[in-house]
Amino acid sequence: MKIAVFNAGSSSLKCKIFEFPAKTLLFCKEIEKIGESGSAIASHAEALEALGIDFSEIDAIGHRVVHGGEKLQESVLIDNEVIKTIKELIVLAPLHNPANLQGIEVARQKAPNIPQVAVFDTAFHATLPKEAYLYALPYELYEAEGIRRYGFHGTSHAYLAKEAAKELKKELREINIITLHLGNGASACAIKKGRSIDTSMGFTPLEGLVMGTRTGDIDAEIVLYLERKLAKTPKEVEHILNKESGLLGICGENDLREILLREDERAKLAIDIMVRRIQKYIGAYMLLLEDVDAIVFSGGIGENSKEIRDAVMDNALLKGMKTLVIATDEELEIANECYRLLGL
Ligand code: ADP
Repeated sequence: MKIAVFNAGSSSLKCKIFEFPAKTLLFCKEIEKIGESGSAIASHAEALEALGIDFSEIDAIGHRVVHGGEKLQESVLIDNEVIKTIKELIVLAPLHNPANLQGIEVARQKAPNIPQVAVFDTAFHATLPKEAYLYALPYELYEAEGIRRYGFHGTSHAYLAKEAAKELKKELREINIITLHLGNGASACAIKKGRSIDTSMGFTPLEGLVMGTRTGDIDAEIVLYLERKLAKTPKEVEHILNKESGLLGICGENDLREILLREDERAKLAIDIMVRRIQKYIGAYMLLLEDVDAIVFSGGIGENSKEIRDAVMDNALLKGMKTLVIATDEELEIANECYRLLGL
């Protein structure tokens, strides 16, 4: 049977098709620059056409959805009620859920009779204990506004945990690991007995590690300072924190390959700041887990850069710690979820 997986971004639509149960990749294509000036593709509906998929051969469709909130804590078969809930969650994920919804809507129009499943980036972190997901803000802000840590990249961390268990030759429920998804977006996850117990991204994917263009952790007061002292609007501050910061903010470049080629002070500093932040999270998660079987590196940086992996592991406390390098595959994990949920 064939499972198609869609990952819709605001200006992109990626599709992979897998043959199950063999999990063979049959098709992989991404349409980019949707709706951008000069692009021949004006909408997600046109992008779907441009992918040229024969839906008569597809048995199930899986969709990546960034935010499931507290209501959608595991993969679900999509119906009108689920769509309504994903819409309600736009307030929590304004940059992501609208694009994911577009992908769902065009696929449902095109293939109304094929079962479609939503798989959430937040779902793997549904096991976070309250002391991990609550911020030390007035409790009412959690109750009334849903302000809490949700965590993201969950589909990747879940996949990495399963693959790590195989490599460690243990059951998933037996492993304690720290997974590092290091791409343009980056997050760390503390996994105890196969379940997420803490993760670095929070209420939004902005918190935690230093990323390509995102700050990761900063003092929240800086936001107020930017608004008060420099008269920045919330939109401008959002742009600074999400698009002008991280590696880019420090050295003017967010592509790590380019940064590694440079020898100037800023390039070195950007790497040192990124590595130090990763080490701080590893240290904290080692304490939470007490006993760590392995540190797992993944994402474009984690999978490809031995230099960064070595820099992260260059610490006396990490001597002898097992490291695994695993290529993540969020689309395959989404297909796995479809297969499991639909009992195919
Ligand atoms: P995204 O979060 O957009 O999916 P990726 O997981 O593709 O990002 O990771 C992109 C990052 O990986 C970039 O900083 C890129 O420079 C880095 N990267 C990719 N290949 C290499 C490599 N061979 N060496 C160092 N960094 C690499």
